[in-house]
Amino acid sequence: MNNVKKSIGWADFTVNPVKGLCPVGCSYCYARRAYGRNCNEVFRDKTIRYDVDVWNGVEKARPNDRVFVGSTIDLFHPLCSKWNDEIIETCESLAPTTFIFLTKCPENLPKVWPDNCWVGVSATDFNMATYAMCGLREVKAKVKIISFEPLLKQITPTAPYGPYTVDMFARDLRFTGVKWVIIGAQTPYSTKTAPRIEWVKEIVDAADKTNIPVFLKNNLQPLIDEHFPDKGLACNHDKTVRSYHQMGKYNLCEGCDASGCDNCSVIWGLRQEVPGKGS
Ligand code: SF4
Repeated sequence: MNNVKKSIGWADFTVNPVKGLCPVGCSYCYARRAYGRNCNEVFRDKTIRYDVDVWNGVEKARPNDRVFVGSTIDLFHPLCSKWNDEIIETCESLAPTTFIFLTKCPENLPKVWPDNCWVGVSATDFNMATYAMCGLREVKAKVKIISFEPLLKQITPTAPYGPYTVDMFARDLRFTGVKWVIIGAQTPYSTKTAPRIEWVKEIVDAADKTNIPVFLKNNLQPLIDEHFPDKGLACNHDKTVRSYHQMGKYNLCEGCDASGCDNCSVIWGLRQEVPGKGS
């Protein structure tokens, strides 16, 4: 089990019970690049295989931890899915720890999930987002996720499909029962592949219209800093969050207004909301 609080952010740990070269073959995949580099023993063997030993450490996860299962391979690709029943049963037995599954093959997702398994689809553009929502509609899970990571194109294009508006996108998110939206840039961050701020804002707008928690990955910080340089003053007397900027949060102490007080300093963090366990 690897600690990924700093790198992934929306999960505390990753666990990879299935190893091997992911057959989905996304051009931007860091795991596939690792297999190409032969950097350690695990990545030297590209054969798709089940590694039962990875579960040993997972038993130590705490009730509030979120564990991302399958960060280096898509568990729902037909070439990887034969161990899925065993994997999901193991995760269910480790409740109340939360396990998160993401796929680009929503058509292969099991239709009913245990309560401690959150299930999502990754989408990088409009076509994938539409496919993700179609696939997720059939799925019964406590938390359904769309992960726009890396966000490579606009989700609400005007042509040739359009107009597909933010309101229509919000309606589709609601109809699908999405309970969490994650947005991130391609890793490593580069201005060439980073999303445009308008694309991020449209997704956040649609999520806000539907009251869906939004998690902006740390790798969006340069983009947000560039477009929201004036984040205002906030006070560090009191860490309670009292008001949200669309892309982040201000921490204001009792009695502070937007102009702050003598003891104010800038405390501002990316908007990183997580659904409650009771979602
Ligand atoms: S589906 Fe995920 S693990 Fe597979 S190639 Fe794409 S990014 Fe990599």
